[in-house]
Amino acid sequence: MDFDTTLAEAWIRAIAAAVEKEQARLTELDSAIGDGDHGSNLRRGFAAVLTALDGPRPVGPGAVLTKTGTTLISKVGGASGPLYGKAFRAVGAALPEPAGPAAVAEALAAGLDAVRALGKAEPGDKTIVDAWTPAVAAFRSAAAAGASLPEAAEAAAEAAERGARDTVPLQARKGRASYLGERSIGHQDPGATSTALIFRTLADTTAA
Ligand code: ADP
Ligand code: MG
Repeated sequence: MDFDTTLAEAWIRAIAAAVEKEQARLTELDSAIGDGDHGSNLRRGFAAVLTALDGPRPVGPGAVLTKTGTTLISKVGGASGPLYGKAFRAVGAALPEPAGPAAVAEALAAGLDAVRALGKAEPGDKTIVDAWTPAVAAFRSAAAAGASLPEAAEAAAEAAERGARDTVPLQARKGRASYLGERSIGHQDPGATSTALIFRTLADTTAA
């Protein structure tokens, strides 16, 4: 199985559905250590992405992801819009067609680089980076060991979910949550949680 246009579009549509379903939870997490808009930010962004994908059909999996990123940048005002927007644009730009597991791993790594270039967060700062970093590492090592796309994506999803849970004891050092200082400790980071959703939907989509 390769990562083709159909799979790219199915993944993005699955993210939109997952964001819709988990909106309240993401908002609740962001209410604890932010301003309570992470769920609505992503919901608005991915609703616009669905509309964009219903328009002129992007050609190739990279173009689907690039269009997703561009739409998120233009529609989401919060920190997560530009961060995820740049990430999807970078994944899209790095994705060859067709892409096997190793190429997808490198494209996802390019997405992480884009998040870090824009947000300047290090692992351990309680951000998107804390879920995306272990997901890329797991995807890469699974692909290197000869895993199929669904197997590598499953390993990445589990690593992202662990990474998101592991943000609970961390003190936020980037973004709005950092204003809380030590009071950010004891809560799961909203952005790391939505990153885990993004990788979980990739695993579900490739396995379907
Ligand atoms: P805002 O903080 O502007 O309200 P959101 O609520 O949509 O935006 O997104 C908040 C999430 O963005 C945080 O939980 C965190 O994971 C992520 N985030 C914030 N700043 C950064 C950064 N510099 N690098 C990576 N992720 C970040
Ligand atoms: Mg917020």
